Formats: sequence, C-alpha cells, structure tokens
Amino acid sequence: MENNKECEVIPFSEVTKFHGHSCPGSAIGYRAAKIAICELSSRAEDEELVAIVENDSCSVDAIQVVTGCTMGKGNLIFKDHGKQVYTFLNRKTGKALRISLKNNIDEIAPEFSKARKNAFSPSANQEEKNEFVKSKDALTKKILRDIPANDLFKVESVEMEFPEEARIFKSIYCAKCGEPVAEHRSRVENGEIVCIPCFNNYSRT
Ligand SMILES: [Zn+2]
Ligand SMILES: [Zn+2]
Repeated sequence: MENNKECEVIPFSEVTKFHGHSCPGSAIGYRAAKIAICELSSRAEDEELVAIVENDSCSVDAIQVVTGCTMGKGNLIFKDHGKQVYTFLNRKTGKALRISLKNNIDEIAPEFSKARKNAFSPSANQEEKNEFVKSKDALTKKILRDIPANDLFKVESVEMEFPEEARIFKSIYCAKCGEPVAEHRSRVENGEIVCIPCFNNYSRT
C-alpha cells in the first residue's frame, strides 16, 4: 500500500528538522502518517483530514509534519491514553483508518532495549553510551525501511463520528488576572468570570 507511486509524502528529513532529532518514535509516527496519506489520499492543507493521537510522544511530531494535521489548526486531537494508536479521518470521503502499533519496542528490537538498559544504568561507561546511540540510529532506519507495514501496525477501517470542525470563540477578560481567555474555557467564581489558572477549583472526587 505504501509503495503506491502516486502517494507522495514529505521526506523523513523534514520531520527531523521539525522534531530536532531523528529517533525510533518519530520513525513510527512517520510510517503511520504515510499509511494514512496513502490510504485516505489526502494531506490536510486545511481541515479535510483529522488525526486523533493517543499519546504525546515523539511520533506525534511526525504525524503533524507529514499529514498536516496540527494542534494549531485544530485537526489534531490528543487523547492521553499512552497508546501508540493513530486514527485518521477524511472529511471529504467519510473514510476513517485506525492504525495501532502491534508490538512494543522491546519486542520490535530486543537489541535496542538491551543497549538502552545498559546506557541508562548508573555504572554505564562511554562505550555503552555510544552503543546506545548506534543502536537507536539502527532501529530508526529499521523502522523507516525494513519492517513491512503489516508487521509494524494493525490497520483497520473504522466507522466513527466526525469531530466538529474547529470553531473560533469569543474571548473575555479574566476578572482576576485581566488577561483575555476564550469564553468556552472560562470558569465562574463568586459570580465573576475567571480563567482556569486563576480559578480556585473545588472538587470532591
Ligand atoms: Zn524523538
Ligand atoms: Zn486569570
């Protein structure tokens, strides 16, 4: 599926430029984003493509660069589940794809896990630290080039409700700090409108 010639994606070097370093996490995000672009035949110039990510790791930077689904545009939805699961929805075609990583890193690359464990032990020497860097680069390349998509991910078509498109909200001034705050994120305290950081929360849960 990823070999489709018509399916052009941004090179991984662009992800590294944005993310700051090359790593296995951004490589996983790159592969998932590539599948999404190829299968849903869309990159989000605007909000036609929506990504729902279930973690906030390195991979999400790759998702943003490759798919054009970004936090700022409102078509990147973050769910704090700690899972390597990425769901993409094409608003134009109504198609949705759920892409989930099949195995954890320890199973994908036991040699990398071992090198990481050694490098982070209190007694780690320089050689072990170098070995970890080498092993990290090797794993990044392996994820990018060698592992077939079907071994890396479970990819399934899903039916789901489309999230509402991003709205623009009126902002009002917080009664305590005086800073503007979007109306829908404000709180009421003693009859006054305040922002979340100024709000004295009360909860019994
Ligand atoms: Zn990273
Ligand atoms: Zn405030």
